[in-house]
Amino acid sequence: MIFNSKRQITLRTLGDKVLAGTAAPILNVDADIVRLAREMIEATVVFNGIGLAAPQYGISKRMVVLDVPAESMSEVPTPGEEQLLPRMPLVLINPEILSYSTNTSIHDEGCLSVPDIYAPVERPEKVVLRSMTLDGDMIECECGGLLGRCIQHELDHLDGKCFTDRLSPEAAREVAGEIKRLLRYGEKKSFMRTKSVK
Ligand code: ZN
Repeated sequence: MIFNSKRQITLRTLGDKVLAGTAAPILNVDADIVRLAREMIEATVVFNGIGLAAPQYGISKRMVVLDVPAESMSEVPTPGEEQLLPRMPLVLINPEILSYSTNTSIHDEGCLSVPDIYAPVERPEKVVLRSMTLDGDMIECECGGLLGRCIQHELDHLDGKCFTDRLSPEAAREVAGEIKRLLRYGEKKSFMRTKSVK
């Protein structure tokens, strides 16, 4: 008898309603939440992402996994990069952005829920993040660099927004055809993408 030990990990893709909703705050860090965090970390690694928000995993809760590489540290690192990059993967519970810098920068972004599509997004360079971690620490720090961008991208998912909602008209035109194809393909696949793991 052969045992098939393969499991499927599933992420939701653009067009799924769960990605358009407002995620609910987490009231209690119970065993289910800890399990969800563990599964989301695994999914982030398996899908090779630097961040994942619970709605992308099909769960409308305010949880985010960050796995931003330490090498992304800015030349002049923000306190958040110094504090948080050594702690990756990091699970944020009920994260919020307290303030945004007025300086902005433009970088290409992609998203595990928008496979193979990349486009430039203008965002504030730095944000002040406040969040609980899975371990129960409260963190509050200014985050810039790739970390600051990733935090903004992931927190957007908790409020039903995807980076494709933040494109300039020109950038949106560039990827309009690809997004249309993704939505059409996603509809056939119930807006899911899966990978098998052992
Ligand atoms: Zn995303």
